Amino acid sequence: MKFKQAGVNRANLMLVSVILVLGLWLLVDREQLKKAATLKAAEVIGNIAVSSMPDDVAGGFHNIPIEVRSLAPGVYQASGISNTHLIVTTEGNVLFDAGISIQAAQQLSLLKEKSDALVKYIILSHSHADHIGGVRFWREDTTDIVVHREFAEEQRYLLELEPYFWNRSRTLFPWMPEKPTTNTLLAYARIHSTIEVDERDYRFTLGGREFVVLSTPGAEGADNMSLWLPAEKILFTGDTLGPLFPQFPNIFTMRGEKVRKPREYIDSLNKLLALNAVLLVPSHHNAIKGAETIRAGLVRIRDATRYVHDQTVKGMNEGKSLNELMTEIRLPARLQLTQEHGKVSWAVRSIWEYYATWFHFESTTDLYPRPVSEVYVELAEMAGSDALLFKARTFLDQLEPVKTLHLLEIVLAAEPVNHAALGLRLRTLKMLLYQALAGDDNNYEKDYLRRRIAVTEDALQDLPG
Ligand SMILES: [Zn+2]
Repeated sequence: MKFKQAGVNRANLMLVSVILVLGLWLLVDREQLKKAATLKAAEVIGNIAVSSMPDDVAGGFHNIPIEVRSLAPGVYQASGISNTHLIVTTEGNVLFDAGISIQAAQQLSLLKEKSDALVKYIILSHSHADHIGGVRFWREDTTDIVVHREFAEEQRYLLELEPYFWNRSRTLFPWMPEKPTTNTLLAYARIHSTIEVDERDYRFTLGGREFVVLSTPGAEGADNMSLWLPAEKILFTGDTLGPLFPQFPNIFTMRGEKVRKPREYIDSLNKLLALNAVLLVPSHHNAIKGAETIRAGLVRIRDATRYVHDQTVKGMNEGKSLNELMTEIRLPARLQLTQEHGKVSWAVRSIWEYYATWFHFESTTDLYPRPVSEVYVELAEMAGSDALLFKARTFLDQLEPVKTLHLLEIVLAAEPVNHAALGLRLRTLKMLLYQALAGDDNNYEKDYLRRRIAVTEDALQDLPG
């Protein structure tokens, strides 16, 4: 009886096993189907998001096609708003940067055509949304996520201040949705890392390839990292060198973020220089070839950053005012760099305030929440708007548009819909934009001016008659 029961049990057990295996097989298949459907959905939503961006948005990054190119044997780059890199080895793959969420699914499917092997490591150059969006699609249970030690803190404050930063960005880019997305496929990722890298860097070998993850903070945040392939002499820099090469670094960002430390950045550049890379692969735009070109660019960025830093510190010690230094400090001819991304005069201010904070001992009133604008209405009444507008026009004729704007702010504080003042503000903003376009000026400055022009045009249109 006992034996018979055991036989029945054995038969039951076999049946249960078959069902389990079948179920598991179905489940695995469903998991894969689910994954494929998720990727497709992300691709479709992403395409809609990208197509809603206007053509003249900062740098036109979204016009860059998503395609895969081979940088070296087994080293692939998927281009787009930001690049994703896949490095293939015989023991599994390594990913450097995971792209922006609205393009990551498409980049993934193209890169998987090159190699579908398990991704053993995902290395993230920093915590900005355009570099980590695809982690949710790439990560497997066993994948190690490698980030800088400061990544968690950078991610924390970017998330904690997300509504504030979002509103600032929307002022620059009004086509952005009103609020950050809550769509789980596209929202700013909350990354949980498994390996943290500090100033000692992090080395590993996989399938015979050597990888060195370098801590290179300073230019786009305290958590910047680069990846060095010593055998191939390929250097992936993420955003350590910014979107253009070579460029003056963005120590200050208009959309709002913590100030980047200039001295730390100089140390990072020295670290990169010592490698003698032959191929430089930033996570925006194309790779740069040639040891000499790379060296010359890195030296120039380092020396220009050091120059602006040292001149600011010198001026502070000599008792010069911040405004004097913002006007005086210019890059010498031998250190000229594009200021489309980072602007020298703003860097001067950022360095000053990084060291000495916001109170400059210039006006007692700065200590109190009573800005000069609180007496604008009284000033306008005393001076009269005609006299103020006359002087404002004179300043504009003398090519002093900022002084014109100061006077217009006084007039408009008293009479927010003064037609002549709004008309003059429009002309003044257009002059500033014209000057910015004619020079090698900052892209964010141009975006901000364009936005102020649009706001002024709307205000003029709303006026009766
Ligand atoms: Zn970026």
